[in-house]
Amino acid sequence: MGYIVFIRTYVFIFEFNIIKQILMASYRYFEEYDQPVTDTLIENYSKILHTVGEDISRDGIVKTPERAAKAMQFLTSGNCQDPAEILKSAMFAEAYHDMVIIKDIELYSLCEHHILPFFGKAHIAYIPDGHIVGLSKIPRVVDIFARRLQVQERLTHDILECINDTLKPKGVAVVIEASHMCMMMRGVQKQNSVTTTSGFRGQFEAIETRNEFLKLISSDLG
Ligand SMILES: [Zn+2]
Repeated sequence: MGYIVFIRTYVFIFEFNIIKQILMASYRYFEEYDQPVTDTLIENYSKILHTVGEDISRDGIVKTPERAAKAMQFLTSGNCQDPAEILKSAMFAEAYHDMVIIKDIELYSLCEHHILPFFGKAHIAYIPDGHIVGLSKIPRVVDIFARRLQVQERLTHDILECINDTLKPKGVAVVIEASHMCMMMRGVQKQNSVTTTSGFRGQFEAIETRNEFLKLISSDLG
């Protein structure tokens, strides 16, 4: 039965390299920094470095507060972007009713407890109900929710609910696998642990559809 469902379903899987190119292009476009915010961050990063014993006038570090100020603004730039608008900008009426999967979407976020990175991959699927969305928009939604202080559980649900509420498909599935620097560099110092979170809506709540999705994201079709 599962095999028949597998054969019937036409699945588009967009490989890692294509997704990577899309993400790299979006990184290049972020060049706007709010000057008053930058100035305040520079001042505060200088204090932090001084407090931990750094000589903030030495060559290698003299511009670090400014670089850190810009990096922090980039890494939290998702706060002022609307992911629903991104999806709405590329929704098309289409009578395609099978599963669409985008797997191995790279993600980089910051844990809100320690302001340290967590990073990994997102695998997302939806079953259209009258509308499909431009495929590059799904990784952009991931970026917008990832570029803010997050926990992996909320990141998973933010992405799930945004696609569900905006595209209104027959079903959505999101799986995220990530490594957390706050566990690897400090705390329990577990270098090889990967945290997996998942969320399912609509037809993916049925065990058969969910299993088909999980089988497809764990197989190497390349
Ligand atoms: Zn943490």
